Amino acid sequence: MESCIFCRIARHETPAYMIAEDADTCCFLDIAMDAEGHMLIIPKKHVSSLLDCDEETLGHVLQMVKRVADHCTRCGYGGVNLLNASGTCAGQSVPHFHMHLLPRKSGDGMDTWPTLPGTSTPLLDVYNKLKME
Ligand code: 5GP
Ligand code: ZN
Repeated sequence: MESCIFCRIARHETPAYMIAEDADTCCFLDIAMDAEGHMLIIPKKHVSSLLDCDEETLGHVLQMVKRVADHCTRCGYGGVNLLNASGTCAGQSVPHFHMHLLPRKSGDGMDTWPTLPGTSTPLLDVYNKLKME
């Protein structure tokens, strides 16, 4: 898509610190500089989010996620967190599907698990609502 910032990065029209790239995906540093090594992994094909991502494209993205995660362990990190927002109600700000990857080290002081509000809805009600046939 012409005006999409991540499509422009994938086409090398907008600069980014490109960590890895293949025919279908790329991985580059997030501009936010909020954590050492914060990266984004995207499909080169424009899809808005996980919700409209076809299985083949998702497979390509996850293969790159695995490749980058393994690479992080060779660069001295001990693990990674993966984060994704799909939909504006979930906090997605750039409407081109992306996985955030945060390399982790013991004692790095990062709290990447959100504090959630809790719920009084009984588990059985939630189960009946969400169980898949
Ligand atoms: P979201 O809020 O959609 O899950 O994440 C979007 C991410 O894209 C944010 O972390 C933001 O810092 C990053 N971002 C937005 N614009 C650019 C850009 O032009 N270049 C890079 N490298 N990252 C960007
Ligand atoms: Zn795009």
